[in-house]
Amino acid sequence: MIKLLILVTNDDGVYSSGLRALANAMATLGEAVIVAPDRNRSAVGHALTLERPLRAEEIEPGIFAVDGTPTDCVNLGIHGLIMQRPDLVVSGINSGSNMGDDITYSGTVSAAMEASLMGIPAIAVSLDSRTFSDEDLVTATDFVVVLAQRLMKKGLPPETFLNVNIPSGRCEGVEITRQGKRSYGQAVIVNEDPRGRKYYWIGGASVGFEDIPGTDCCAVSRGYISVTPLHTNLTSDSFCEDMKSWALTCRKRDS
Ligand code: MN
Repeated sequence: MIKLLILVTNDDGVYSSGLRALANAMATLGEAVIVAPDRNRSAVGHALTLERPLRAEEIEPGIFAVDGTPTDCVNLGIHGLIMQRPDLVVSGINSGSNMGDDITYSGTVSAAMEASLMGIPAIAVSLDSRTFSDEDLVTATDFVVVLAQRLMKKGLPPETFLNVNIPSGRCEGVEITRQGKRSYGQAVIVNEDPRGRKYYWIGGASVGFEDIPGTDCCAVSRGYISVTPLHTNLTSDSFCEDMKSWALTCRKRDS
């Protein structure tokens, strides 16, 4: 069997136990190199650091801490540290699910997306719990090993990567899903600081999801592992055609 080179990253930071569990699982398939943010960079989305230089420290053999985003880590890992194209990039295991609308904010998912944009097969893995129980981690890592093996054998279509969400506690099976829809309650909390100035705190009050059958949110809530194939090309193909009826025009000019 050919030994795979696997780049492991996340957005919770290099000290996350989910990251280490994932890397240990990937090491059963080949050589696993960790390139991850030096601190928690959750919800930074697909941000790339361009306004300052980046530093990477090899804190243990094959484990690099980068003072940048998950997307920085994938770039730096491939073009600056490993200097070799990995066969697979896995991102996670994130503390908390990344489903529905959350996908657009997720650093975990964005790291996998970055790899996919480079034409490298990629998997994002998240656990539907803020804490990592040993049992949950075993459920997650066992599944990702199987999924990675299948992926390496079968391949993925162009511009496609996989978003995996693992339920906490019971596990009933696996579902291939579509991206669902989260519903948020009070999105911004307004309060006053000790000096009497107002402050605003975004998020926190996630109150559930829309009950759409076949979606990631629905599967995980019923105790199934959700696997969603995601596309990096965001074009709305169906509306592309419809929109031609808008008959848009503009002022023409030469050069
Ligand atoms: Mn995170």
